[in-house]
Amino acid sequence: MLKLNPRITGLQEEGAFAVLDRALALKAQGHPIINLGIGQPDFPPPEHVLAAAEKAARDGPHGYTSPIGMIELREAVAEHVGGRYDVDVHPDEVVIVPGGKVTFYFACHLFGGIGSKILYPDPGFSPYREAILSAGAQGCPYPIREDRDFGFDPHEVLSLITPETSLIILNSPANPTGGVVDVATLAALADGLEAHPHVAILSDEIYSHLVFDGAGFASLMQFPALRSRLILLDGWSKTFAMTGWRLGYGVWPKPLVEHVRKLITVDHSCVNGVAQMAALAAVSGPMNAVDRMRAKFAERRRIVVDGLNDLPGITCRMPGGAFYAFPNVVATGIASSELAARLLNEAYVALIAGESFGANGAGFLRVSYAAGIAEIEEALARIRDFLIEK
Ligand code: PLP
Repeated sequence: MLKLNPRITGLQEEGAFAVLDRALALKAQGHPIINLGIGQPDFPPPEHVLAAAEKAARDGPHGYTSPIGMIELREAVAEHVGGRYDVDVHPDEVVIVPGGKVTFYFACHLFGGIGSKILYPDPGFSPYREAILSAGAQGCPYPIREDRDFGFDPHEVLSLITPETSLIILNSPANPTGGVVDVATLAALADGLEAHPHVAILSDEIYSHLVFDGAGFASLMQFPALRSRLILLDGWSKTFAMTGWRLGYGVWPKPLVEHVRKLITVDHSCVNGVAQMAALAAVSGPMNAVDRMRAKFAERRRIVVDGLNDLPGITCRMPGGAFYAFPNVVATGIASSELAARLLNEAYVALIAGESFGANGAGFLRVSYAAGIAEIEEALARIRDFLIEK
């Protein structure tokens, strides 16, 4: 009998990938699948980014780089983040990693260990919970509330902090809800955290460039009192449509970077040089491709949300960011897990059941609108037919 580590064997795979596998299998059998399950932009990366990658594939760098990323890239990220939020960011606080996920995975390991507790959003991006468990920490979910437009109550979150709490994970704009946490809520949380100086904060802002008009997004970088214990997570996957390139960055408090370096040299040594050169072109080049993509998402958001609100038994809040809608399906009379499975198998529309994102997600579906308008409209028509015939 092999002696496997129960911390690993007990983990759950991210639900969206399981749905993707099933959708691909149905498609391979010839079924007309519409995939509103996947969380990645359906656009190519910007042209100048591809050109930089092509050049780097030929000219290099071909060897290892600094574990925390090439200095030119860290300088460019520091300037990009500093300029956006009007704060000082030093290149030595920037750590380049292979994907946004790596920053929270490393943060959970740095703040985890037996006896520690980590707060995370529910519903929320499901790998948070698994990263916490794999680090040997106890995960403590805090509720994300539909009646707060998928934000949280800062006093409720603060009330869950104990002397064992080592880290709070925040995510705005959020997966799976599209919720954007308003400035007043962040300010109340930041105020309250002053009484808990032992708690670090990981702010996952990977959708920070996908905020729609009037949503009032603020970065936690804009709260100076938190900076010495704030880890900012952002990256290239969603902003520049580069999910498969595996690129992300963290802005860490300087004293923590030496520990992250150790994790990197154990784990992956550095991010590949071609991807880093592409990342440099993206972050220091024109942003008009990103602006065009955001405008397209804004148009689809309206079509999706209006269309969902028009369906029997479904109500949907207008999300402030990302590319997800999170409709409430309780009044359809079908449990969300069953509804998601039947829509995939009977209507060939792939969506994710809300409970894949935590217990508080039950009764909701996640609808990704990273798909063309014709496909979105066809999916809405199929869901309508299904709900009428069910
Ligand atoms: N954080 C959130 C909230 C996400 O939704 C995702 C991807 O879906 C990630 C992090 C991970 O991004 P990456 O693909 O860059 O690892």
